[in-house]
Amino acid sequence: MKIAVVGTGYVGLVTGTCFAETGNHVTCVDIDERKVAKMRNREMPIFEPGLDLLFHRNIDQGRLSFTTSLAEGIEGAKVIFLALPTPPGEDGSADLKYILQVAEELGPILNQYVVVVDKSTVPVGTAEKVRARIAANATVDFDVVSNPEFLREGVAVDDFMKPDRVVVGTTSKDAQKVMEQLYAPLVRQGNPVIFMDEKSAELTKYAANSFLATKITFMNEIANLCELVGADVDAVRRGVGTDTRIGNRFLFAGIGYGGSCFPKDVQALEKTSKEYEYDFKLLDAVMEVNHRQKTKLFPKLIEYFGGSLKGKTIAVWGLAFKPNTDDIREAPALYNIKDFLEAGARVKVYDPEAMENVKEIFGDQITYCSHQYAASDESDALVIFTEWPVFRTPDFDVLQKGLNNPIIFDGRNLYDLEVMKELGFDYISVGRAEVR
Ligand code: NAD
Repeated sequence: MKIAVVGTGYVGLVTGTCFAETGNHVTCVDIDERKVAKMRNREMPIFEPGLDLLFHRNIDQGRLSFTTSLAEGIEGAKVIFLALPTPPGEDGSADLKYILQVAEELGPILNQYVVVVDKSTVPVGTAEKVRARIAANATVDFDVVSNPEFLREGVAVDDFMKPDRVVVGTTSKDAQKVMEQLYAPLVRQGNPVIFMDEKSAELTKYAANSFLATKITFMNEIANLCELVGADVDAVRRGVGTDTRIGNRFLFAGIGYGGSCFPKDVQALEKTSKEYEYDFKLLDAVMEVNHRQKTKLFPKLIEYFGGSLKGKTIAVWGLAFKPNTDDIREAPALYNIKDFLEAGARVKVYDPEAMENVKEIFGDQITYCSHQYAASDESDALVIFTEWPVFRTPDFDVLQKGLNNPIIFDGRNLYDLEVMKELGFDYISVGRAEVR
């Protein structure tokens, strides 16, 4: 099948590459000329484990190509995926300008029946809006389908190639057939392709992300309570997560969720509720708690250093909003670094993949280290924001010798309290006893 994917970010590039891998001919369209030039030069514009192999293979086999021209990209395509940004607008609702702009451009250049697929996360009613924008200038028949994406950055290729389920919102039999054909190779183990109406599909994505954000936030609230009552959130997590009705995933306490999806999607769902005059109280609480949680360690640093961070050097391990990605959108590390700088501290950072992106925000206000111990050496404290595997079993000897004070603030609860005590570290984590 010939496919076009408009928007070649984390979702678009994975979608395009994976559908090329299942034998389709895919053209990826992006407005960013530098990005397209890079991809034409066989360079990956993002870091996503495992994607480069498929990316190169499919370019070499002539099944994956790139262009900045929408008209050229959609030529002959049976399906056009829209994998465009839907960032929060000024009022917090999803900004549809990228999607609607492309929909408008598509109208006059469609020359045969095509299925236009919303892969972006979009509010209820967007498929209708996209349809109207295209129809205003179209001379051929077309369908608009909602097909929200559930991949996770860091494991996106696996998630895409072996999805738990595929959700497709359409009432058109023709579109349903095309979507079934496209996804058949990815659901051979019997994972369902769930067909529903467009609005339900649109809402499914927000419901899923908001539920997951709520699950994390609930556990963070339990962690905060653990600190007050002297309980251990790790023990509570194990006790709770073994209940199959609850499940053991998304229960790790820490310094809050970030990323390009949860924060904006919870906010957008809350806005949709407001639009329909529904007071979705739970979402307000989730947003408030998560906001507070992100900088939860900061007052503990201040307290540890006797009221001020002035003149202190703080080492930061982990900048990405989660491991195995270079994505730093809404990452807790960014909020904390800002606070450290404002408090008069010097900041030295290390992240395996995200430092280039952070340079665009903090420039030369902070020091970028080529190694994790180069950050901790001669620093007054180590603060961990991302649970990259490489931080899980560090050389504690090197760490201890390098740090001016043996203190670790751990926003991801990576280390065992007993071990830290034996090693002689001061160790402050989330929802567990402090080791001092
Ligand atoms: P992204 O910002 O990484 O990529 C979007 C791409 O669209 C960019 O390359 C940008 O240059 C391009 N673009 C913007 N305007 C364009 C235009 N007019 N024509 C062509 N290209 C254009 O975004 P993303 O993270 O891939 O997210 C895309 C959508 O998917 C969002 O709605 C997001 O909520 C949703 N989503 C994201 C994830 C995720 O993990 N990132 C997961 C599921 C769903």
